[in-house]
Amino acid sequence: MAALRLAAYAQSPDAFEWLDPRSGHDTDPFNHAIEFMTERFRDDYILSIRELTKQYGDLKAVDDVSLDIEPGEIFALLGPNGAGKTTLISCVTGLITHFQGDVRVAGYDVSEQSHITRRLVGLVPQELKYDAFFNVRDSLRYQGGFFGVEPDDQEVDQLLEAFSLADKADQRTRWLSGGMQRRLMICKALMHDPVLLFLDEPTAGVDVELREELWEYVRRLRERGTTIVLTTHYIEEAEKLADRIGILNDGEIVRVDEQETLMREFGMQRVQVELGAPVPDDLSAELDDLDIERLDEHRLELVYRERRAHQTNERSPVDRLMQTLLDRNLEIESVEGGRTSLEEIFKQLVF
Ligand code: ATP
Repeated sequence: MAALRLAAYAQSPDAFEWLDPRSGHDTDPFNHAIEFMTERFRDDYILSIRELTKQYGDLKAVDDVSLDIEPGEIFALLGPNGAGKTTLISCVTGLITHFQGDVRVAGYDVSEQSHITRRLVGLVPQELKYDAFFNVRDSLRYQGGFFGVEPDDQEVDQLLEAFSLADKADQRTRWLSGGMQRRLMICKALMHDPVLLFLDEPTAGVDVELREELWEYVRRLRERGTTIVLTTHYIEEAEKLADRIGILNDGEIVRVDEQETLMREFGMQRVQVELGAPVPDDLSAELDDLDIERLDEHRLELVYRERRAHQTNERSPVDRLMQTLLDRNLEIESVEGGRTSLEEIFKQLVF
C-alpha cells in the first residue's frame, strides 16, 4: 500500500533503492509518487501550499495562504465558521479548480497533475452521504472503482474490521446509524489508499463515545503512515490529536505552530489554594509581582505564564507562593491546578 510504503521509505530510504526513477520500474501514478519521494523526500513536504487565494466576487475565502504539511503528521486546521477551511481543502482535493497560487501534493501540482494528486489524496467531507442502492461492502468496492482500484474483497473486509463495521457488511448503507455512516465514509476515503487524508469535521454531531473511538482510528491511520489534516470546531479534538495547529481567520493564516509551542507562548497556569485560616490581607503586598487574587475568605488563586524551570534561574511563582504560605505557618487544605486550554488560546488569537 502506498501510504505504508511511503512511511517505510521515510524510515529506511536505502531499502527502496529499487524504486529509483532512473531504474524505470513503474509507470503507475502511485509509484510515480514514490519515485518522486525517492528523489526528493528529504527536502519536500507531503502538501505544500504557496500564496493560495480563492476569491468569490469581492470575498477572499482563502487569502494568500502558504502552508507546508510534513509526511506523517496530524495537522489540525482551526477557524471560526466561514474562515475558509473547507475552501482550502477543496482547492487541494480538486473540488475547486480555479484559484490563484501553487498547491502541490507530494510535489505534484494539483492543477496540472490532478490525475495523480487525486489518487494521493482522500477526503472525508462534512456532510453524511448515503448510497441509495448499495450495501456497505458493495459501496466500498464501488468507491475504489472511481480511482481505478480493482475490488479486493480481502482489503474491503480488513477495512470493515478495522472500523468495526464487519457485522454490517451486508446491510444497506442507508440503514446505518449516523456514527456508522461516518466510519463508512472514512473507509470509503481510504479505499484508494491515499497518502494524505483530509477529515472535514469528522466528529460533527457524534456522541462522546464514538468521538473517542474515531480519534483512536485516526491515530491508527497515522501509525500506518497516512498524513492527516483535520478541521474541527471541537478544539478539544485538536488538542487530543494534532501535532501542529494552523489557525485560519477570514481566509488568512493567523498562526501555525506545534501545539506545545502555542501552549508555552500563550498558556497560563492557574493554581487555587484553600487555606485552613483566612487569606492574610498583606499576602498580595508581600508577593506584589505575582498575580494573586483572593477568591473568598479562605481561597486564593495564582495565575502565571507557563515557562520551563530550566529556562530561568528564578524560582517559579507557585514555588514562591507555597514557600511564603509555609513560612507563615498557614495550613494548606487543598491545592488545585489547571492550564489554559487550547480553546482559550484559540479565542485569544481569533476573537
Ligand atoms: P465552516 O466552519 O462554517 O464550515 P469554513 O471555514 O469551512 O466554515 P468556507 O466554507 O471555506 O468556511 O467558506 C469561506 C467563505 O467563503 C465563507 O464566507 C463562505 O460564505 C464563502 N463561500 C464558500 N463557498 C462559496 C461559494 N461557492 N460561493 C460564494 N461564497 C462561498
